[in-house]
Amino acid sequence: LQSNGEQKPTPTPITKKQKGVILGPDGKPCRSCNSFRDFFGATKGVTAAPAERFVPQNSPPECPPDVEQLGRSSWTLLHTIAATYPAEATPTQQEEMKTFMRIFAKIYPCWSCAEDFRAWMSKPENDVSKYVQGQKTFGKWLCDAHNDVNVKLGKKPFDCSKWEERWITGGEG
Ligand code: FAD
Repeated sequence: LQSNGEQKPTPTPITKKQKGVILGPDGKPCRSCNSFRDFFGATKGVTAAPAERFVPQNSPPECPPDVEQLGRSSWTLLHTIAATYPAEATPTQQEEMKTFMRIFAKIYPCWSCAEDFRAWMSKPENDVSKYVQGQKTFGKWLCDAHNDVNVKLGKKPFDCSKWEERWITGGEG
């Protein structure tokens, strides 16, 4: 029992991966933690003979999002929030942004992504409270956070000097 008299929640045993596929707390492949190819391969695809197996490359539009679709949409939301964040945020806006990012990093549906994101945020040099003064600092922090994931996934880091062009002004043409 906890000090408030409530039953302690049982910690969920999570085995991170099974044959390269990230599992959810229920022990089944986690849809929002894997690419559609891996998720499909680990679930429906496995029952068919290899020659007959059809594995779509991307999550079909009518399906729940996979890790990539969820990621693209989430980064779009986050960078667009930064793009509309004031140049000089008030103390209240700064508090709200810190709270938002901390909660976001807790409830992000891909739990393994969220875990790594929280680990990145917990480093003193990445402490979000140092970067919420205004749009420039917050946009740069977000760009660095996104690059951390890019590098982890073997992608080229984005040039953060182009952050405004990508998320605020748009390119020419
Ligand atoms: P995305 O990386 O989704 O980027 C979308 C667009 O943003 C790009 O086309 C580019 O124009 C622009 N962009 C790219 N980098 C930057 C940057 N640094 N700053 C500003 N703009 C940029 N996926 C995993 O497989 N494993 C993970 O652990 C994982 N962790 C994630 C953690 C978080 C918090 C989020 C939001 C997503 C995570 N993802 C993870 C998803 C992953 O980051 C990508 O979204 C996904 O792989 C799709 O990539 P993409 O190449 O389409 O472009």
